[in-house]
Amino acid sequence: MKANRICNFNAGPAALPLAVLEEIQGSLLDYKGTGMSVMEMSHRSKEFDAIINDAISRTRRLLQLDERFHVIFVQGGASLQFSMIPMNLLADGRSADYVNTGTWAANAIKEARMLNKTVSVVASSEDRQFTYIPRDIAFNPDAVYVHLTSNNTIRGTQWAAFPETQGVPIVADMSSDIMSRPFDAGRFGLIYAGAQKNIGPAGVCMVIIRDDMLKRVPANLPAMLKYTTYTSKNSLYNTPPSFAIYTVQLVLKWLEETVGGLGRMEALNRQKAAVVYRGIDDSGGFYRGTAEPGSRSLMNLTFRLPSEELEKRFLEEALKAGLGGLKGHRSVGGCRASLYNAVPLEAVEALAGFMQAFARKNG
Ligand code: PMP
Repeated sequence: MKANRICNFNAGPAALPLAVLEEIQGSLLDYKGTGMSVMEMSHRSKEFDAIINDAISRTRRLLQLDERFHVIFVQGGASLQFSMIPMNLLADGRSADYVNTGTWAANAIKEARMLNKTVSVVASSEDRQFTYIPRDIAFNPDAVYVHLTSNNTIRGTQWAAFPETQGVPIVADMSSDIMSRPFDAGRFGLIYAGAQKNIGPAGVCMVIIRDDMLKRVPANLPAMLKYTTYTSKNSLYNTPPSFAIYTVQLVLKWLEETVGGLGRMEALNRQKAAVVYRGIDDSGGFYRGTAEPGSRSLMNLTFRLPSEELEKRFLEEALKAGLGGLKGHRSVGGCRASLYNAVPLEAVEALAGFMQAFARKNG
């Protein structure tokens, strides 16, 4: 039976590739002849070993990670990483640079300070409501790392290119744009991403960590809060969120085998974002993009209508037309279309068509 699915523009948890959901459905009762679901099997089984190892090798291939990098799966969302990063990497007496580009970056700064760590906020876009990505930043050459948020889910801004940090490793929250485009991972000391936007369901956070950063991990941390616990046990020290990891594995397989890798994914993501931004820019001012054009995100496209009343009507009529998840984050209001990897071009074209018709009727 064909399910009645909407065009899903949710910001996270968000759309998953239909083929992945169908594969999960097909193996839900009997995974590869085991007579059970992945949910029901031991995380120490050979089947689950194959799943987690495949997820890791696909991540390594997709991001072209060299042997210095470890791929681990941690619970607690991206938010736990805000604390684990300074706890593991930032020794007392040392400092780290942070760039404040909005709520999630600010939370990362707050959590590091909560631990009495020395944090230097080297740039911020708060002066213009986080509508842009700061440029020409003077980083501290003796910082342990530079923390940035590659894509700002709430404000709809994204780093088009990563800054030159004079050899200081970048630590990046890529929760809302991981695997959406290729980039040179070599300059990164740590990359983390809650899975629930671009690579899977909620419940697991992917962390990619470089060998030299692991050397900074102090011995006296609780096991579950220590990166080396995960790297030394292949994320199997305790029971991992196995079904979430299985879903991530299938999404990565889809990315490699169906989409054809991150270059192809980026081209498609650019095409999708262009369709909606063009609709915004050609609307004669009916729709107003909230991010400055040079900082616009390809993942979360944020925009306003002439009034809050029209925004409310826009969201209601969109939903009736089968277009869901377009409400902006509760902290900023307005509208937001999240065009993550799994959102197909056809859904984006349907949205652009709806936007045009709505503007004609109400403009
Ligand atoms: N960072 C970014 C960029 C996010 O978009 C989010 C969630 N929207 C978070 C961190 C927090 O993630 P989690 O809910 O997995 O803790």
